[in-house]
Amino acid sequence: MPYWVAITLVLAACQQTEEDVSVEEEADENTVVEEENETEEEREDASSEPNEEADEPIEEELEPAYTLNENNWALEPIDDAEEKAVLITIDDAPDDHGVEMAETLEELGVSAIFFVNHHFINDEEGEEELLEIIDHGHEIGNHTMTHANLQDISEEEVEEEIVDLSDEIEGITGERPDFFRAPHGANTDRSWEVVEEEGMLGMNWTYGFDWEEEYTDPDALAEIMVETELLQNGANILMHDREWTNEALENIILGLEEEGYDFIDPAEIELENE
Ligand SMILES: [Zn+2]
Repeated sequence: MPYWVAITLVLAACQQTEEDVSVEEEADENTVVEEENETEEEREDASSEPNEEADEPIEEELEPAYTLNENNWALEPIDDAEEKAVLITIDDAPDDHGVEMAETLEELGVSAIFFVNHHFINDEEGEEELLEIIDHGHEIGNHTMTHANLQDISEEEVEEEIVDLSDEIEGITGERPDFFRAPHGANTDRSWEVVEEEGMLGMNWTYGFDWEEEYTDPDALAEIMVETELLQNGANILMHDREWTNEALENIILGLEEEGYDFIDPAEIELENE
């Protein structure tokens, strides 16, 4: 097991504007992670418990085929996995369009990670939507309780923002999330520690545009998402549960396919302690 010492993570510049678009994700902070020690806790994987022999496993177990590059947040193939592939992620879900986006993706044969917040799943409707997203073949990620900027709150609050949401997700779905993404991509030393203690894989993204005012038009968004030079092998693509993104989603996926890209199943991503 390798020790990873003093890995410097520099967030890719994401071409954000300073305009007020009433959406989020301005990743203008560089983040330094010190001493990620992978050797400690063995990750518990509920779906591989041996006492399930009678039941169909709910989640298909796949061999890891991609690993997250923690310097640029791209996905890299392990062995002979397809190089020309991208990961789809949907943040701030499930708001008004999450379930429909989950359906659209399923119809197109794409599995995504939906990063959720407490305020979207804290009533019966939200719980139902969370379960529907899973039923459509997607993974749930932790995006904090309140969508707080973790760099603006205490270490104790950082821990609550992350752990309380994993507890809540587990209470609804029976499983703790495997993935974490900080609001605005703004992590702290403490947030990385908690993510590791929780056995999650933390990630930011390589590109996205749906929070920029000029790309709140579905046609403009569908075009830039496919034509940007940031579209590269292993791109970790950020979208949000938003009206215009929902409208553009099918064209985005079809456009990526037309460019020759496959889609990485989140279940194929190597987790920290595997
Ligand atoms: Zn967010």
